[in-house]
Amino acid sequence: MRQNTDLENLAAQPIAAADELAGTFEIQPHNALASEEEHTRIFANLGFGSDFTDYMAHATWTAGKGWHNKVVEPYGPLTLDPAGAVLHYGQETFEGMKAYRHDDGSIWTFRPTYNAARINMSNRRLAIPEITREDFVASIVDLVRADARWVPSAPGTSLYLRPFVFASESFLGVRAASRYEYLVIASPSGAYFKNGLQPIDLWVDRIYHRAGPGGMGDVKTGGNYASSLLPKVRAAEAGFDEVLFLDAATNTNLDELGGMNIFVVMADGSVKTPALTGNILPGGTRSSIIQLLEANDTDVAEEAIPLQFVLDGLESGDVAEMFACGTAAVVTPIGRLASEDFDVAVPVGDKTAAIYDELTAIQLGHAEDRFGWLYKIADAS
Ligand SMILES: *Cc1c(COP(=O)(O)O)cnc(C)c1O
Repeated sequence: MRQNTDLENLAAQPIAAADELAGTFEIQPHNALASEEEHTRIFANLGFGSDFTDYMAHATWTAGKGWHNKVVEPYGPLTLDPAGAVLHYGQETFEGMKAYRHDDGSIWTFRPTYNAARINMSNRRLAIPEITREDFVASIVDLVRADARWVPSAPGTSLYLRPFVFASESFLGVRAASRYEYLVIASPSGAYFKNGLQPIDLWVDRIYHRAGPGGMGDVKTGGNYASSLLPKVRAAEAGFDEVLFLDAATNTNLDELGGMNIFVVMADGSVKTPALTGNILPGGTRSSIIQLLEANDTDVAEEAIPLQFVLDGLESGDVAEMFACGTAAVVTPIGRLASEDFDVAVPVGDKTAAIYDELTAIQLGHAEDRFGWLYKIADAS
């Protein structure tokens, strides 16, 4: 039996129901709510991450007061001194989650305690004060309840939630800041794949790494994304959708994409994914897929996966499918792997689609929630 990770154990600890947590972030007056016409215009053409809701959750941390001033306030620009520490040294962490509307109109989210545990793991690594899991989940509850009309219901749509923390102290000295802001913003998003799962083409980068041993590869911080952007630009120029990074220590094993974990499906039905070495972000989607596969008696190995093993397996037929996973897209088939000295097609098969269907059915309340992953934010209004 696989051992749970620390994050999985923390996530499994029970948390109070939404009605008990609600009201922690006090709702502020709003005198410029989006009009019905504006709402209709946005919902007619849902994209990803470009339209935002009426409100945002916000709290401030100072050394004397800890986290205070917990509010849900009108969405809008922040004021930040040009010496604000995050602008200079990148001291910030973030999360990515979704709120889903079920068929009966109620609103749910998926494993919020996993995200709560993970933002604090990230916060520890970046010397940012932790936020209690109750405050974290309460911020989601209070924001989504205030913004309930922005949770879409069409198939594949959701309200994407972006909690984040950053150093707001005005100071250029290099040390952990003495003031931080915690915010949650929300963006109604459309179906990632409008016409079924679309395979993506990956460029395997041998020059750049997104993270290295002892770095920040296993925590969710903007710096990891900053280091992935140039490789991504170069890959895009060569016609590839995403970059597959190798481990920085040996430059031979699969790590992950810039923002998604990776799985390899073997022809014998077993599944492999890179072990959590400290360079790899412990995805909640990755964790959920491993648990679902094991519950279905699929053999899942978390181990080092040499690139050469994958290339050999694609040639021999031992590797049947590959997919990437993360909250935004859930599951994405990989259709091609290439680098300076190889360019190979990856077969697209049923296993990837079956995993996508099983996970999204739980998230949407269409399948039994065997693992207790769903958290109810609000009843139908
Ligand atoms: C967020 C993220 C993932 C996926 O994590 P999920 O919890 O499944 O959304 C994978 N890799 C990186 C670098 C990430 O930041």
